[in-house]
Amino acid sequence: MLFAPATCPRLVVKIGSALLVAPDGAVRRAWLAGIAADVAARAAAGQQVAIVSSGAIALGARRLHLAKGGRGSLEDAQAAAAVGQIALAQAWTEVLAAQPLTAAQMLLTLDDLEDRRRYLNAAATLDRLLSLGAVPVINENDSVATAEIRFGDNDRLAARVAQAAGASGVILLSDVDGLYDRNPALPGATHLALVDRLDAAVLAMADAGSASGMGSGGMISKLQAARIATAAGIPLAIASGRIDRPLATDAPHTLFAAERAAPARKAWLAGGLTARGAIRIDPGAADALRQGGSLLAAGATAVDGGFARGDLVTIEAPDGIVARGLAEYDVADAARLLGRRSDEHAALLGYAPRAALVHRNHLALL
Ligand code: GLU
Repeated sequence: MLFAPATCPRLVVKIGSALLVAPDGAVRRAWLAGIAADVAARAAAGQQVAIVSSGAIALGARRLHLAKGGRGSLEDAQAAAAVGQIALAQAWTEVLAAQPLTAAQMLLTLDDLEDRRRYLNAAATLDRLLSLGAVPVINENDSVATAEIRFGDNDRLAARVAQAAGASGVILLSDVDGLYDRNPALPGATHLALVDRLDAAVLAMADAGSASGMGSGGMISKLQAARIATAAGIPLAIASGRIDRPLATDAPHTLFAAERAAPARKAWLAGGLTARGAIRIDPGAADALRQGGSLLAAGATAVDGGFARGDLVTIEAPDGIVARGLAEYDVADAARLLGRRSDEHAALLGYAPRAALVHRNHLALL
């Protein structure tokens, strides 16, 4: 699979329930081992991969003998997820360990990615795990997320995770090999290899509902995911996982091209919000920012305003404003760290410090 998302530096791969769980309720271990081998090959080639894994409800429902695949009621789904998630985590741990790769579990709710402060936490954890070479295996926290705060499908979760992780590609692996111009069961249905613009005509091609009956996502949720990702400047592919080693093969797929080169999140940071304060920096720090780095405390000289963690701040060099970004600290703690090296931060703060005053993933140069 050699299309754009497959070769980007940081990739999110979403795997649907029907690929992970056999009809008898067992984990499809041989297939999963193939995916782990694919991830290892990509890691060896320098790519960082995060996995969004469905399958908890499908696995747990079989083990608890629940009707309707565990989706008959919210209580059933949440109980099934609690049983299935632990089995899913074990399966991922084992197949990744055989490579050998280290699995890391993250269970997220919608709020974790919508609230700016919690978004920063989730983003920082993902960034750290990926840079340590671990493989994050992410699912929705189905056993506690209630109907109002659920994503409900891992397609959109994968697109949001890609934004949070600063990923530059998303692959949704499922039992369909992409988008057709009408229901693929109908005569004359044509597969689309590339979608340049996700407009109303494209949305009208999708059918609701999951073909396998195991997951919750159908083509509509995949198109919603494609819209979130491509609007954020991240290309997304829907590809078939109905083959072995789908990440090592040129699997049939539909590629959704990114809408613009600069991610929408950065555009939003650059213009969309009111700044709550400012951090002044020295010329060396300004150079580091222009080369794509984070704002480190060592290069900061003063703080202004009443900002809290997660608020937007302007970053000002002696010759003017260079960037805007989300503050990792509130103003009082940021002030304590001014001009200080990273190895002094824990003692100054009395708690485990963040990697930067403003992380490069949450910063837009002006
Ligand atoms: N989070 C659900 C699970 O693990 C899957 C959601 C979906 O089908 O996309 O079972």
